[in-house]
Amino acid sequence: VVHLSNVRLEYGGRAVLRGINLSVAKGSMTAVLGPSGSGKSTLLAAITGELVPAQGQVEVFGQPVPRDARGLLAMRKRLGVLLQGNGLLTDLTVLENVALPLRAHSGLPAAEIQARALAKLEAVGLAAAADRFPRELSGGMARRAALARALALDPPLLLCDEPLTGLDPIASGVVMSLLRQLNQSLGLTCIVVSHHVRETLPVCDQAVVVANGGLAFDGTPEALQASQDPLLRQFLDGSP
Ligand code: ATP
Ligand code: MG
Repeated sequence: VVHLSNVRLEYGGRAVLRGINLSVAKGSMTAVLGPSGSGKSTLLAAITGELVPAQGQVEVFGQPVPRDARGLLAMRKRLGVLLQGNGLLTDLTVLENVALPLRAHSGLPAAEIQARALAKLEAVGLAAAADRFPRELSGGMARRAALARALALDPPLLLCDEPLTGLDPIASGVVMSLLRQLNQSLGLTCIVVSHHVRETLPVCDQAVVVANGGLAFDGTPEALQASQDPLLRQFLDGSP
């Protein structure tokens, strides 16, 4: 579903990532790991089309990422994105937050939008909190509400940037197993940027480590855990 070939990403002429080759298969769950500042979010920005590569090709859904506004909008409707801050609107209830993308893009009647938004809340275990406001939720609940909103339009691909930030171990476990469950039951392709190696690796099919401007590893989580590469060991053993 996502394919990068020889991609170079830079800010103001300064390269952050060089020569990146990466394929994420349909239906897979891929962990993108790496030290802070290594370029994980930058890699996601190339997939959403926010950042145009200085070199190389990024393909999403089998097509180069569009560079025109119309093409980009069409692609982004099929792309769920969960960002580090939850981005929930504080003046709207949880249900209204989830209904927002449906209102903007689905063209469905109001009753159908309500029903679909509620179904999404059910899928993340939050139906009972539909009428609450974001400030009334715990951190884990707010993250799940943001996830329900990211999935409102049934995107086949979900990008998550640090979905566990600020969550305690129990809430982290809930969010990660929820992502895995959605991945497996819906065939939702997930790319999860995380520095929580211990919580993230066990539920993924593919692991990628971004370091020193490139991919220091691309393979199975098992192979990464077993790696004897000193750089990878240092990163793995020093991770939270
Ligand atoms: P973290 O784990 O802290 O979120 P990251 O791996 O996501 O880090 P990026 O945010 O992709 O790292 O940043 C990679 C590098 O690019 C860093 O050196 C950062 O300072 C730089 N950078 C990121 N965004 C910009 C920007 N908009 N303009 C200039 N430099 C940037
Ligand atoms: Mg980041």
